[in-house]
Amino acid sequence: DDRISRISSSIRVIPDFPKPGIMFQDITTLLLDPMAFKDTIDLFVERYKDKNINVVAGIEARGFIFGPPIALAIGAKFVPMRKPKKLPGEVISEEYSLEYGTDTMEMHVGAVQAGERALVVDDLIATGGTLSAAIRLLGRVGVDVVECACVIELPELKGRSRLGDKPLFVLVS
Ligand code: 5GP
Repeated sequence: DDRISRISSSIRVIPDFPKPGIMFQDITTLLLDPMAFKDTIDLFVERYKDKNINVVAGIEARGFIFGPPIALAIGAKFVPMRKPKKLPGEVISEEYSLEYGTDTMEMHVGAVQAGERALVVDDLIATGGTLSAAIRLLGRVGVDVVECACVIELPELKGRSRLGDKPLFVLVS
């Protein structure tokens, strides 16, 4: 698919960011290429438009870039999954482990209802810790996570194995 090659070549790799040894996958260069950005959204929309998804849960921060255009195109609501103390209303939180220490993800109480069908969107899966926290958080309120979708997967980190029985769809490995 030449859409995938355009997307892949529009992603810039920045060595040693944010710390030495990390090869950071920078999607801001994908956003500078309107065709690559459109192809990215189109590929997700083609996959999810007829799957009865009514929630797109986007993970802060780059899930806020890719999630909303998908949500609009498939007729789903967009729910932000945020870092602690950002959401103004009552929240439900889920802790997850990082390489050093822990982090917390929050979602507004009442944003989703039990029985709704969700797609979880982020730019990239590395260890899978972030997506697995989103799956747990949505699961606690009875939401059915249909799939997780990312632009990029770093397969050597085996993040997929942390998602349990939830499928993961990615454009670029
Ligand atoms: P994980 O929890 O799977 O280890 O890490 C994934 C999270 O970290 C995602 O929210 C993603 O945005 C961020 N992340 C980790 N490494 C990179 C990277 O190389 N590039 C980008 N764009 N995001 C990254």
